[in-house]
Amino acid sequence: MDELNYAEVWARCLEIIKDNLPVESFKTWFGPIKPIGLVDGVLTIEVPSDFWREYIEENFLDILSKALRREIGPKANLVYKVRIIDGAFIEERPKKSGNIKNKEVPIPEVGNRYTGNPYIIPGLKKLNIEPNLNAGYTFSNFVEGECNRLGRSAGLNIAMNPGRSTFNPLFIYGGPGLGKTHLAQAIGIAVKEKFPEKVVLYVTANTFQNQYTNAACSAKTNNNNNKIADFLRFYQLIDVLIVDDVHEFAEKKGTQGAFFHIFNYLHQSGKQLILTSDKAPVDLLGLEQRLLSRFKWGLSAELLPPSYETRLEILKAKCSKEGVTIPEDVLSYVAQSVTANIRELEGALVSLMASATFANKDITLDLAKGLIEKIVNEPQNEITVARIQDEVCRYFGITKELFLSRTRKREIVQARQIAMYLSRNLTKTSLSSIGTQLGGKDHATVLHACNTVSDLIDTDRSFRGFVRDIERVLTEEQI
Ligand code: ADP
Ligand code: MG
Repeated sequence: MDELNYAEVWARCLEIIKDNLPVESFKTWFGPIKPIGLVDGVLTIEVPSDFWREYIEENFLDILSKALRREIGPKANLVYKVRIIDGAFIEERPKKSGNIKNKEVPIPEVGNRYTGNPYIIPGLKKLNIEPNLNAGYTFSNFVEGECNRLGRSAGLNIAMNPGRSTFNPLFIYGGPGLGKTHLAQAIGIAVKEKFPEKVVLYVTANTFQNQYTNAACSAKTNNNNNKIADFLRFYQLIDVLIVDDVHEFAEKKGTQGAFFHIFNYLHQSGKQLILTSDKAPVDLLGLEQRLLSRFKWGLSAELLPPSYETRLEILKAKCSKEGVTIPEDVLSYVAQSVTANIRELEGALVSLMASATFANKDITLDLAKGLIEKIVNEPQNEITVARIQDEVCRYFGITKELFLSRTRKREIVQARQIAMYLSRNLTKTSLSSIGTQLGGKDHATVLHACNTVSDLIDTDRSFRGFVRDIERVLTEEQI
């Protein structure tokens, strides 16, 4: 066989890959790759870091293998050269793929070369990382109740023994305002008190995502991938990592990849991970399976809405912390009326105290009634994709499980299409997010569903009746 020109072969492979990926992903991940040689059907490409190789393998190996086979033939093979920090290289073959063979080459540890890492001050032996904890979010300010018992006791346990308990990761989940952030930070504060030398870091999923995107962008524009390596290495130094609101990672593939890498590293090194989310791992859509399965390794603890007794106790605790006295009948009225979550409960108390101070009035039951009515009567029944799906299922008498399953039964397919159509018309959710929340449909499928439903509404009277009924229920509940 004539030796093919590796640069041309790679260019043709890129053409194929480009057609199959979103432009941004293509540019980010394939732009920095260089072809190096092609011998006996084995194409060697240079990738900027080991993380890069892993990411490509996890996400694009399929299309990469297909392109290679098409251009080189059925015997096509691939070897990566991974650039490591001092300009040396290691070679590695893909770990998993149909006919691409394995040749495991151990990856050398990059070691403690932190030079150039903007997160770290060179020359400092001890790391000084600001943990970002709010001093008020302690365990002593966190009132115990049936609603938080499991999470609270697991948290206390972890604080005594971070990374070493079976609760790793601790996955705290529950609705808004139920104390996820408070509890997660309380663990961080307690660890710092008991083990001042431990590196604790609280970060929101959003901040993490921004940091990662900045690193990835600067890698792209300056053709300098040390930024991503620095980012990863920084997180690998943490002893107790708290990531708040991980549901925000949904659909952010790159960020999930980076977090997966960090999670594995920390977990394997006996470091503690604490995660919070608005849903249980099984209900988190738009997150990769490999991450979800890791989230379930430790303990998942749900925070539930507090009972009346706990609400009252929380109110009393806040009053004594603020040094104010509020009559018992007012407190029990507030505890009875504000039931949704603890943030609203606190809000009610704060506005009560503020208006009493402002108007120079005593805090009385009448004052409380006037204020609370305003707070409690605010519309709460926002139309969400999840509510639409629930309503569609209820209307057609099908279970959510069946609705989200892969079945192609006509009536289920139609129910899904109606849910997609209503989600598009009644919420501001993007097509791709509607698709993800419907068990991983893509943007084109959602669009197709919306068009099909529109056509049927125009042509089929009983179908039009279904859609209008469901629409009415959804919008009427929204008083
Ligand atoms: P989430 O992160 O779940 O949305 P937060 O942790 O921000 O909720 O809690 C909302 C507010 O309620 C915070 O001010 C927090 O201090 C308070 N809070 C939550 N749980 C408790 C509790 N068990 N005891 C006292 N205050 C609480
Ligand atoms: Mg929170």
